[in-house]
Order: sequence, then structure tokens, then C-alpha cells
Amino acid sequence: MELRETITRIGDHEIHLRSIAGINTTIIFPGMGMMFDIGTILPKSTKIKRVFISHGHMDHIGAIGLHISHRALTGMDRATYIVPGSIVGKVETLIHSFQGVDESELRCQILGIDDRMDMGNSYYATTFKTNHRVDSQGYIIWKNKTVLKPELKEKLQQQLITQKDIQEYRKAGMDITVLEHGAEIAYTGDTTLDGISAEAKNAKILIMEMTFVGDDVSIEKARERGHIHLYELRDNFDTFKNQYIIMTHFSPRYSIPKIFSELYKNLPPSFLEKVYLGIGDRIFKFENPVLQ
Ligand SMILES: [Zn+2]
Ligand SMILES: [Zn+2]
Repeated sequence: MELRETITRIGDHEIHLRSIAGINTTIIFPGMGMMFDIGTILPKSTKIKRVFISHGHMDHIGAIGLHISHRALTGMDRATYIVPGSIVGKVETLIHSFQGVDESELRCQILGIDDRMDMGNSYYATTFKTNHRVDSQGYIIWKNKTVLKPELKEKLQQQLITQKDIQEYRKAGMDITVLEHGAEIAYTGDTTLDGISAEAKNAKILIMEMTFVGDDVSIEKARERGHIHLYELRDNFDTFKNQYIIMTHFSPRYSIPKIFSELYKNLPPSFLEKVYLGIGDRIFKFENPVLQ
């Protein structure tokens, strides 16, 4: 099976990642200056100033000290690391210990999110509680946009008014717009399927974990470990309304052809059309393995 080129752009976003269950996971959006989890450092990691961490397992947080020190070495200011509220103090202690052994000042900001975090450029972040073996949370990045009021939009569509009229209204100082917000990107981190919120299932881009895909691990075992099994998604795929779905965090026991063929066997083509796979440090668009 020969795979086509590696993807680095999905929707409006440049994306780089590395993700293998139990080894390391990090998903970087360089254009937005943010990443999800920090299980390792990639060439694009250093410039990232905002890191959303899903939980404290080492494959998701293990490279935090390296990231802080690499930014300092290259003259960058401190980055912000967002973690579940219950581990803020523990992560601060961890950084403090790193400082001790590294004998350097590791400047950073460790935060939880109570309600929402403003990210600038009309974006803000919220969290949703996920279901894993330790305290864990997923993230949603929302985008605010100013749109024409629905009643004016309708009149325009019915040709009762023209674009010129809209310009006149604007000049006259009329309030013609409303603020809309939509879920642009959602990230699940490690979780069982029922830990993915309805809002995340409606985000434009969903990055979800898909640790198990074969018969060697049962759905029950996967749940026990706080992970998703493909067979569970098979029975629930129609609840996912996303435009793009990036599956990550596959167990290293599976080869790339095995992952492709299991997906092909268990999900309908209409769903697979929107699926991308983050395996190791590459992103593939799903393709029919039989045609390869
Ligand atoms: Zn993990
Ligand atoms: Zn985990």
C-alpha cells in the first residue's frame, strides 16, 4: 500500500503533529501560535506561546521542561501552559524541580481555565471534561465573527434590498451586524467516547484520540483504560457533525495498513471522506486501502 503525500494543511489551518499512544502526542497550529499537548518537541514547537495540555500523563506533558528551556535559550519570553485546574500546583512543583536540576530559571505561566481564555484575533478557548484514568479535559477554540443581522440577510436574499442599501445603512450609523461564534477546533486528548462533548462534535475540525482499532482489545478493555475503540465509533459515527476529523493517538501495535483497513471496514465512505489520520509524525488523508 503506497500512501499519498503527507498533509500539513486542513481547513484554514497549518497543522503539524506527532502522536503515538503511550509515547508522545503534540499537535501544533503554528498560524495560531498554539499547540495541544507537549509530549515531545518538534521543529515548530519552540515559537509556540500557548500550550493546551489535556492531562498529566507523560506522553502528553513530558516535554514541558524542554520547551520552557528551549524558548529561554533562543531568547523568547515565557509561554503559557494551560492544564486541568486540579494539577496546576503539581505542574508548578514539577517545573520547580526541573529548575533545581537544570540550575537555571525556567520562566513560564501555568494556568487553569475557569470560564474562557481570550486568545486574540477573535478566538477564545473553553474546556470540556473528558473521561480518562486521571483528571483530564478537552479544549474548544471558538471564533467570533461579525455577520449581517439575519433579517437583513433574508431581505438581501429575497432581493428586497441591495448591497448598496446595506452600505447606506452602515453610513447612516445603523446597527446592522450581530456577533456570532462558532467552534472552530476541538481537541479531545485521551478519553472514552462519551467524554467528547456535543460542542466538540459540532466543531469544524475535531482532533480525537483513536487508540484501539482491532480485535485484540475489546471495547470494554478500551473503556477501562480510558480510551476510544474504533468499534464504538462505528456505532455512534452519526453523532459527529464535524467538517474534518483528525484521528490521533493510535496504539503503536498497529501498522499503517492495518489502521487504514480497519477504518475502511468499520466506517461508511460518507464519514471517511472527512477523516485524516495523524500517525507518528505524519498526517494522511484517509484513502480506500483496496485501491492502493
Ligand atoms: Zn496518551
Ligand atoms: Zn493518558
